[in-house]
Amino acid sequence: MAASTSASASPSCIFCQIARSSTTTTLLHADEKVVAFQDINPSAFRHYLVIPVEHIATVKDLQRRTEDYSLVSHMLNVGQTLLSQDAPTSIRYRFGFHQPPFNSVNHLHLHCFALPYTPRWRKVKYLSLGPLGGFIEADKLLERLKP
Ligand SMILES: [Zn+2]
Ligand SMILES: [Zn+2]
Repeated sequence: MAASTSASASPSCIFCQIARSSTTTTLLHADEKVVAFQDINPSAFRHYLVIPVEHIATVKDLQRRTEDYSLVSHMLNVGQTLLSQDAPTSIRYRFGFHQPPFNSVNHLHLHCFALPYTPRWRKVKYLSLGPLGGFIEADKLLERLKP
């Protein structure tokens, strides 16, 4: 691995460890930019996370530029491909991010759901709170980052 890759890792970050395959977490997808795995505490029929290999803390650290836009669209593509393979008959898919202070882990992660939520009340964790933040759909974030 290139030296620049390790420079962008945060040693205490669990998602950085997962991205570098230094945990027992099964990766559903791995390439040089992103990895995907199952949410440890799934809230839906299928609930995957897609994260960048590079340590980026939150959506607030993304900017309106080609690099960030293509990273997020790649994350979304990976999530869509995985769910269409693993949950082809799902009633609905949903993709999005928690915005601080509502995020649980400070390493950017795309939540990918094949609905329904299980149990149903879990959906409250993923409500959009409008201008207050909360959960932001991947499409909306891409709109915001489009160069
Ligand atoms: Zn990290
Ligand atoms: Zn989250």
